[in-house]
Amino acid sequence: MPHWILAVAASSDSNPFQSALDFFKSPTWHFITLMFYFLLAVLWIACAYWVFKDARRRVDDKIILAVCVLTGIVFGPLGLIVYAIVRPPELVADRREQELEMQMMEQRLGEESRCSFCKTPVRDDYLVCPTCGRRLRTTCASCGKPVEPSWRVCPYCETDVHGSMPPVSVYDRA
Ligand SMILES: [Zn+2]
Ligand SMILES: [Zn+2]
Repeated sequence: MPHWILAVAASSDSNPFQSALDFFKSPTWHFITLMFYFLLAVLWIACAYWVFKDARRRVDDKIILAVCVLTGIVFGPLGLIVYAIVRPPELVADRREQELEMQMMEQRLGEESRCSFCKTPVRDDYLVCPTCGRRLRTTCASCGKPVEPSWRVCPYCETDVHGSMPPVSVYDRA
């Protein structure tokens, strides 16, 4: 055995690192380790819980929701990061609201924006029906904006438009 190993072994009592080694065996270090594991467990549970809470508001499908929660439980903080990257961008409530809005818009389009004579779909600012040529609404004499037949006052410039009849020529042509 070389001399220097014997020397180190002999001088182990006076080893400057001995106090550090002792520290790692002390109850204090044991306590710190325990606290570290405890905090890690808390962090883990918090991540899983956050994933569960967030996924519940974004995912409609029960199986996908279960996969998300499992990812959070198994992979903890890492699962949370992965989930945050791949999660659906919008909330279920928002999506439902959007769908409802779309439905209402389609309904409105179906009900209102058709020529009352030939049922051609028309836009709100059309003055005459492009198919049958019937007048749908007049224009304000003052500002030129489209005015509904039922309006009494132009909402854009406050001019009285009640009773302003559509040009006869359009009716004649139809
Ligand atoms: Zn028409
Ligand atoms: Zn006007």
